[in-house]
Amino acid sequence: MSTRPRPRDSVALMEGYHSPQIDVEVRLNTNESPESAPREFVDAVTAEIADIEWHRYPDRAATGLRDAIGRLHDVDGDRVFAANGSNEVLQTLLLTYGGPGTTAAVFEPTYALHSHLGRITGTTVAEGERGPDFVLDIDEVARVLRSVRPAITFLCSPNNPTGVVDPPDTTAAVLELVRETGGLLCVDEAYGQFAPHSALDLLGVDVPLVVTRTYSKTWAMAAARLGYLIGPEWVVAELEKVVLPYHLDAMTQIAGRVALDHLDAMRRRVAALVEERNRLTAALAELPVDVWPSGANFVLFRPTGVAGGEVWRRLTERSVLVRDCSSWPRLAGCLRVTVGTAEEDDRFLFALREILT
Ligand SMILES: *Cc1c(COP(=O)(O)O)cnc(C)c1O
Repeated sequence: MSTRPRPRDSVALMEGYHSPQIDVEVRLNTNESPESAPREFVDAVTAEIADIEWHRYPDRAATGLRDAIGRLHDVDGDRVFAANGSNEVLQTLLLTYGGPGTTAAVFEPTYALHSHLGRITGTTVAEGERGPDFVLDIDEVARVLRSVRPAITFLCSPNNPTGVVDPPDTTAAVLELVRETGGLLCVDEAYGQFAPHSALDLLGVDVPLVVTRTYSKTWAMAAARLGYLIGPEWVVAELEKVVLPYHLDAMTQIAGRVALDHLDAMRRRVAALVEERNRLTAALAELPVDVWPSGANFVLFRPTGVAGGEVWRRLTERSVLVRDCSSWPRLAGCLRVTVGTAEEDDRFLFALREILT
């Protein structure tokens, strides 16, 4: 007789996290950079990879990488925790500060992985609501934090999938509430480089705040799987206890460190994408859609005449793939388009115009 053991209930009842991939010509659904990383970067990484001592474990503390990231943000390497994508950073935070008997607070709609990873790690998830136009409402944050006293509070700025950037005063006010209720604040800045300001300014040695960043979006390196957080040294020390030994392989460490020698090229791309985002937003505003101003490399919009899911289907017929958020809670009818190259964005706009007008 064969038996199939069931996973624990919180996993058995769960749906996985998926982003449907369809074979299309214009892929604007996962917020990647439209161009690959700069050629000089690829050549420099390839040269260093040739010298790896393949029979040895990599540097467990990833010292060179963490020091390089630290220099970028003007902090010591012991205030940097790096992992395989910022998703692994978020998971490690929850494994360290969350878990059974604790609560994590999120403000919906926001990045689905915050609550998903919360549930996987056995953390109770408290869902607060964003206000009109998805703006964070400090009274709602106070209500949630004072009632559940979360171990971790997640913000996301620019927020995925809405693109909304929290004003600095709002983030500072949330941090005050987090201090009052004794938890840790995590600001997910996966799109931080596209935005006009950052929670990095609020960091301090005794401040219960961490800011997460990723190489996947801004730096055209989604293939490398590398993300990090900056926070107090005492948080980083706890995370290092929890994460698997040697989790960051030698190639990833090299790629992450060498990328920081090519910052000018990376920053030029970010500036070009911000300009292209503004062009795309302005063009969308001319069509029968609601559109929200974005501080990231994507734009959320809601067609007004035709159902969102139907528009998504007709776009795929025209070989254009965007993210279908139309059936997500609080985002009825909405679609999210990643800023691509000017040619890709024009194809998207042309197809959308054809469908809607
Ligand atoms: C894409 C994304 C991430 C995850 O990025 P990886 O570093 O590729 O794991 C984290 N947070 C937000 C808000 C994202 O959109």
